[in-house]
Amino acid sequence: MPWHSLRGHDRVVTTLRRALASGRLPHAFLFVGPEGIGKRAFALRLAQALLCERTPEAELDPCGRCPACLQVMAGTHPDLLQVATPEDKHELPIRVIRDLCIDLGLKPMSGRRKVAIIDDADDLNDEAANAFLKTLEEPPPGSTLILIGTSAEGQLDTILSRCRVVRFDPLPEPELAELLREQGIAETPEAATRLARLGEGSVARARGLADPALAQFRGALFEEIAAPRGFEAPALARRIEEFVNKAGKEAGAKRARARLVFGELVRLFRGTLRLSVGLEPPGADPDDRRAAASLAEKLEPEAVLALADRCLEADYHVRRNLYMPLILDDLAHDLGKLVNARGRG
Ligand SMILES: [Zn+2]
Repeated sequence: MPWHSLRGHDRVVTTLRRALASGRLPHAFLFVGPEGIGKRAFALRLAQALLCERTPEAELDPCGRCPACLQVMAGTHPDLLQVATPEDKHELPIRVIRDLCIDLGLKPMSGRRKVAIIDDADDLNDEAANAFLKTLEEPPPGSTLILIGTSAEGQLDTILSRCRVVRFDPLPEPELAELLREQGIAETPEAATRLARLGEGSVARARGLADPALAQFRGALFEEIAAPRGFEAPALARRIEEFVNKAGKEAGAKRARARLVFGELVRLFRGTLRLSVGLEPPGADPDDRRAAASLAEKLEPEAVLALADRCLEADYHVRRNLYMPLILDDLAHDLGKLVNARGRG
């Protein structure tokens, strides 16, 4: 598969080609950018290019058909090491990093090189990062490390100073729309355009929002929060919890769904804020606009800002893997205090 199939990231491809043309591929990369925009897919493609048996790595153009390319795609290439934060943890355990460093020190099976992808570099704590420093500073000959995180600013200095930082931008709307069509996530061009707008540059977010269950839930949720008489906080918390639980048995799926809901609430409050200062929320659906307008009418902008902040805080707590029912109770309680205050006073 040619590199141009990685839509929206041409600038990064150019940067990498230039690095290779200059004769030296950095031994450690830190890919940063918002979640769900394809950094991991890109890391895998880079790994494929580096391990491909047919095309020279300098071309950065894996053939996609040789045994090595196929193994990378299947996740079974012996020289491709991948680690991520375990499902039930909120940090990359030091044990995982130690094992990775040991594995990297062994000779490559294919005799050429090893590539390691470290997902969730945001979750490296001091201890794990320290265990990693020596390998990052001086990886075994021929090995390439790709760390993936959301922002460079959030990383430890010791990590940052040892990596070549590659920044990924959110996908432009037209490219995201095209991708959604290609992947069968949106069936019509209109649906693709709408989802691309709502997805704000993230494939993962757009995919989540394409779920009809979510569309229905968010509509009801917005209506409830914007109801003139206010809402019952505990009941709201339970309703969100029930919806989140329906995402499936896996904790990861539940977390992803909770974060989508929080993201949509932030969108509602951002729209509210715009309306309260006389601006239109960009491309809001009519129902969303109605809910935002009703909130804008009864709340001060400071309160709306606090609401959005509170949802971002809940999102952070979900990422830290705190206990979901508690996160939702606290969130609903605080939202209720801000939204209902006016009605009661
Ligand atoms: Zn190949």
